Amino acid sequence: MSFDLPIEPPARVTGWAGDRATGGGGTELPVFYPATGARISTLVEDDACAVDQAVIAAREAFDRGPWPSLSVPERMDHLERCRQTILDHVDELARLECAATGLVLRELRERHMQRAAYNFRFFAEFISQSAGQRWDQAPGFMTTVSRVPVGVAALIAPWNAPVALATMKIASALAFGNTAVLKPSEQTPLALARLVELLQDVLPEGVLNLVNGRGPVTGAALVDHPGVDLVSFTGGTQTGRTIMAAAGRNLVPCTLELGGKSANIVFASADIDRALDGALLGIFSNNGQQCLAGSRILVERRIFDDFVDRFLDRASRIRVGDPLADGTELGPLASAAHRDRVLGFVDTALADGGAVLTGGTRRDDLGEGYFVAPTAVTVPDNSARVAQDEIFGPFATFLPFDGEDQAISIANDTRFGLVSYIWSDHLPTVMSVSERMRSGVVWVNTPMMRELRAPFGGFKTSGVGREGGTACEAFYTEERTLTIPTHPPPLRKLGA
Ligand code: NDP
Repeated sequence: MSFDLPIEPPARVTGWAGDRATGGGGTELPVFYPATGARISTLVEDDACAVDQAVIAAREAFDRGPWPSLSVPERMDHLERCRQTILDHVDELARLECAATGLVLRELRERHMQRAAYNFRFFAEFISQSAGQRWDQAPGFMTTVSRVPVGVAALIAPWNAPVALATMKIASALAFGNTAVLKPSEQTPLALARLVELLQDVLPEGVLNLVNGRGPVTGAALVDHPGVDLVSFTGGTQTGRTIMAAAGRNLVPCTLELGGKSANIVFASADIDRALDGALLGIFSNNGQQCLAGSRILVERRIFDDFVDRFLDRASRIRVGDPLADGTELGPLASAAHRDRVLGFVDTALADGGAVLTGGTRRDDLGEGYFVAPTAVTVPDNSARVAQDEIFGPFATFLPFDGEDQAISIANDTRFGLVSYIWSDHLPTVMSVSERMRSGVVWVNTPMMRELRAPFGGFKTSGVGREGGTACEAFYTEERTLTIPTHPPPLRKLGA
């Protein structure tokens, strides 16, 4: 079986430094269509010299260009044009994203691209409401605190939802007056390269730049660059450590949005139908590749067997296949290496005394693409590696629990702390469990409802810092305190 390509991508993909393509200079890297495994494009990797060009362009636009000192309405106009550009190109951007990620086209059109456009609207509206502070001191002094842009932001994005995640960074960095250099994952550069090209027509030169290539090459050159003033990173925990060390060497602030191993806790007091829908969405949406996946499904023992049976029945009916087909619910994983890593966890589960409940295999009947059957396992306890390691695929791990205390103890027994899900209609249970969750976000009776004004980020190794309205304002601005006498009092006269 073979599937049509969503779009004919450009033969070669390059970055942007100001008004021209970056110099490349590195290795040429293949880009594959995950649904067929076919090579569809070539990425020109940017070496340290090319990264330097992009940072210089961003530096120039920040130090000498109009962007940081535009009035708020002017900057809002630009952000609105960015939003409109995305909306005018939803189909093209979604198809390019599909071609590199294998994500379901319908989801990309209806959710990812709409979110990407909204990210620009959200931050345009946010800056229109931002206010500084003022204190009046006796006798006759006024002190104000204003927020000013920091400078050049390095923005590093992962491959699982490239446009949706990168636009959160781009929109927030630019809204607060910074300029930026974006580095997408080298696996999934297509839609972001096109988006940055399109945005060159609506942003002043050098405000948004793009470098391409592998993390340890291009990414490392970017975060190490002395012209970079702050780093915003979304990706794996191990890479986060490397990024934070580099930011530390240059003494620049960084935020890290990292991995998760989130508990999805289903109490017997839940609306079970809704909890079942939520559990399936929590682990199988976005092809199972999401930081906020509810990948450990903890179910109260007295409903465990029944809940698992119903879950398995639904999982076996999930439509796996062509990302372009309207009915598809689960597409291929993003790469062959990632598919093999995900399936490697089946042996890990068995070695730790677990059992495969469903899936655990490739879907070879769908051809050469990186398809995996929806998978669920159960393990003896939470110390099993599939209950501790982030798998980042359509792979659920089930564990039973008895009572609130045990649910909380299992949920928090992880080095991660990104989100938790609680399913119960019993308010005291919801309140006492949610208050004891060691995670940055708690969702009750709903999967993945992201409120952009609220901070999003993780406890423990799931991250450092937060993204969201006020959190982004704090990160992408410096506070400047100004004191001025309103009625200048006489000064003490030394030596008079
Ligand atoms: P990686 O950490 O491997 O990569 C993330 C980005 O960092 C990529 O662009 C990568 O480039 C780049 N990178 C890698 N090494 C370096 C380096 N030394 N210096 C600078 N940049 C580098 O993560 P994945 O791409 O595998 O993404 C999956 C991870 O992201 C998961 O752990 C997931 O949980 C997390 N994630 C977290 C989210 C959150 O909001 N908390 C949201 C989404 C994902 P390249 O790929 O080109 O090598």
